Order: sequence, then structure tokens, then C-alpha cells
Amino acid sequence: VPTPKDMKIEMRSFNSKDLNSTEMSLLLQRPIIKSDQIIDLVNPIIEKVKIHGDSAIKEYTSKFDKVDMDSVVKMAPFVIPELDPEVKKSIDIAYSNIKKFHEAQLTEPIVVETMPGVTCSRFSRPIERVGLYVPGGSAVLPSTALMLGVPAQVAGCNKIVLATPPAKDGSIAPEVLYVAHLIQAHSIVMAGGAQAIAAMAYGTETVSKVDKILGPGNQFVTCAKMLVQNDITAMVSIDMPAGPSEVLVMADMSCDPDYVASDLLSQAEHGPDSQVVLVGVNLTLEKQNEISQCLHEQAIKLSRVDLIRYSIPKSFSIQFDNYDSAIDFSNNYAPEHLILQTEDPDSLIPKINNAGSVFVGKYSCESCGDYASGTNHTLPTYGFARMYSGVNTSSFQKSITSQKLTKEGLSNIASTVMTLAQVEGLDAHKNAVYIRVKKD
Ligand code: NAD
Repeated sequence: VPTPKDMKIEMRSFNSKDLNSTEMSLLLQRPIIKSDQIIDLVNPIIEKVKIHGDSAIKEYTSKFDKVDMDSVVKMAPFVIPELDPEVKKSIDIAYSNIKKFHEAQLTEPIVVETMPGVTCSRFSRPIERVGLYVPGGSAVLPSTALMLGVPAQVAGCNKIVLATPPAKDGSIAPEVLYVAHLIQAHSIVMAGGAQAIAAMAYGTETVSKVDKILGPGNQFVTCAKMLVQNDITAMVSIDMPAGPSEVLVMADMSCDPDYVASDLLSQAEHGPDSQVVLVGVNLTLEKQNEISQCLHEQAIKLSRVDLIRYSIPKSFSIQFDNYDSAIDFSNNYAPEHLILQTEDPDSLIPKINNAGSVFVGKYSCESCGDYASGTNHTLPTYGFARMYSGVNTSSFQKSITSQKLTKEGLSNIASTVMTLAQVEGLDAHKNAVYIRVKKD
């Protein structure tokens, strides 16, 4: 239920001292995503695209996006309409920063001699064909095209296919076209939702099949990614599961209430399901009220206040009387974005175990990471920061290991391998070593 227009927009508020462990773990849970109905909707879309290809995509684009398209794919080189010079400059700066940070993530091969004459190595190679989903249902998102496209380009992927829903007039946003040009995309699939994911997973008459699909999207997109990943005939992998976007802001008495409120709202404006959490450490009631007041005053001036009326009442603040407990809570919540607005934020970093991306200190607002500082904004949500990393250069690579044994190396390791092969009853394995050792 959204906050009515004449009421204060505020979060629910808790004190950790008043909560038992069950109540605390309820706070850590995300809204339940009901997947059964979505699967029933998405499965037929995937099947139809798999069988009928482009004509099915056009049919769904007409049905869901209300556009009749003559073709599904735009091939490079793209014709880019003139951009506002300020916008172009901003995209160029963001591109350069993201590139710098993702190039630094390229790794050198490792070579290790594990025993004399036994050399093991590991080296990375790009995933050949990647499909990047850039959401477009409710907003134009050139930033997502940058966050996915730049690491793909840095990793050296051979074919970068970008998919995004067309606007009502059948066009692709000029900003997205410009990014597609910068990242040297091979083609743009002008479709969204499950049909775009299916097209990239299986390929159609005009859409190139890819090996991995990455990028955020709504529940139809996410469900389709999960389904094609599980279909062995598609032979495709995905980046990570996704849920609604979220932020956890940790603040102590040193915080500026205006900054805290602005960070909470910059996440809350994403959508009605967005979750924002304020973890207070030793905040007085007066300071808590100040933050609450700033939140309301800033919110009512925002263009997306109607969305915020949904997301803020679902969100909450919780108070702790020490940093360790606050960090424990944050680690258990495993936020997509963690912002530290505390007196000595650097001292907290060693204790952070679960978070998609961390914003350290009062000047490090999430917006900078969302757009231009260099880190990636495609991050694990829904508590998946526990075991998933955000998109990075290695998301577009796979590692290959290799080994080289000399004659001396083989004789050094022979009895170990033969003994273990015997334990497992694999005689041919044992024989492959024995035959060599015996012959020489
Ligand atoms: P979208 O591109 O994900 O989805 C639009 C598509 O959904 C349409 O093209 C249509 O084909 C399909 N669709 C719509 N209604 C349908 C229906 N009833 N049945 C089947 N298919 C249907 O765009 P969106 O909807 O605006 O969602 C964008 C999402 O991406 C949001 O949830 C947003 O929070 C998320 N996002 C996340 C990040 C991140 O990094 N975490 C960044 C940007 C956006």
C-alpha cells in the first residue's frame, strides 16, 4: 500500500534491542518472488521464439511493446543521431573510467611447478559470443550498456550482441546506439523481455546465438535467463540471478542527514519493489528524526515520488549500539550496494564479507558507481552477494588450465597417480602412466 499523498513518506523504524532473533531474520528477508506464474508465462514465449524465430519476436514486440517492427536486428556500423555534446562527453568520460578499471582486472597467466618437472598453468580466454540485455521498458539505460559492454570489449569477446526493447516509434535510443558503437557491438536485437533472451540463447534467422547472456531486467527477463540456462540444448550460461535493486546505508552521528536521505532515495526511485535499509549506529532520536524529515522533504520534490511512495514504506531503518553488530547485520543482509557514512569508514572495510559494491565515506554516493566512477553497477541482489560477484572482466572470460610434465616429472608423480587410480579401480588411468614409465 503506497503512502497517501497527504502523509509523510517514511520508513518503518526498529531498534535491534527490541527484536528477537526471529524478528531480526524476518527483516533480512527480501520480498518473496512468486516464480510459478511467471514461468508459465515465459515458457511458451521461449518455445515460440525457438521454433518460429524472428516472426515470433515481432509478434511479441507488437503485443508487449506495442510496436510493429519490420526487422528484428540492427547490424553495425550503426547510424548514430547527433547527441547533446554534454551527454556525449559524459558517456565518453564514463566509458574511459569503466575501461580503465576493467582493464586493470585483466590477469597474467599463472605458471607453477608443483613438483620437479611438473608444471601447471592457467590462462584466460574471452567467451567468444556474448549477449548483453539492456532494459528499456520504463527507462533508457545507456549506463547498463556501458557496464556490460565495456568489460566484454576489454575481455576481447569476439561478438557482442546487445538486446534492448525499441521505443514506441521503433527506434533505439541514440545514447544506447552511441554506446553500442563505442563497445564495437556486432548487432542490436531490437526486442525486450523473454523473447529477446530466447533469441540470443537459440539464435534466429537474423539474431546471432551467443554463449553467455548478461544484464539486468524485469521478472520476465530474469525468468527467461534462468530457463534457457537450464536447457542443455541452448548451451548458454548467464551472469547471475536477479531481484529488485537495493541499498544499505550505515550511518553514525558523524553523518549528514541530507546525504543519507539522498542515498536512500536514489535507490528507492528505481521501482516499487526497491528496498532501502538504514542501519544506524548510536544515532540519537533527534538525529534519526532529522534523517526522516530530510527523506520526506527530498522525496516530495522528486519526479518519481509516486514510485517512492511504494518503496519507502516497504523499507526500514534499524538502530544498533555498536559497529560490530551493525556490520554483522549488514553481512547477513548481503546488500547489493553498501554505503558507509561513518566517522572512520575505512576501519569497517576489513569486517565486510558480503556486499555487491561498497561506497566508502560521505562523498562516495552510489550514483557515481551507477554511472561513471569505474566500478560495475550490475551487481548481485536479493542476498546473492553472499556467493556471487558483480559483473567484472572475468565474467566475460573463462580460464583454461594446462600442464607439462617432463620425463623426470612423470617419474616423480607416477606412483602417486597409479596408487590413486588403483583405489578408484580405473586401470586404464593407471596403465597410461605405467606404460610410459616402463618403456623408458
Ligand atoms: P525490461 O527491459 O526489463 O522489460 C521490458 C520487456 O518486458 C518488454 O520489452 C516486454 O517484452 C516484457 N514484458 C512486459 N510486460 C510483459 C508481460 N505481461 N508478459 C511478458 N513480457 C512482458 O524493462 P523494465 O520492465 O523497465 O524493467 C527494468 C528492470 O531492470 C527493473 O526491474 C530495474 O530495477 C532493473 N534494472 C536493474 C539494474 C541493475 O543493475 N541491478 C540496472 C538497470 C535496471
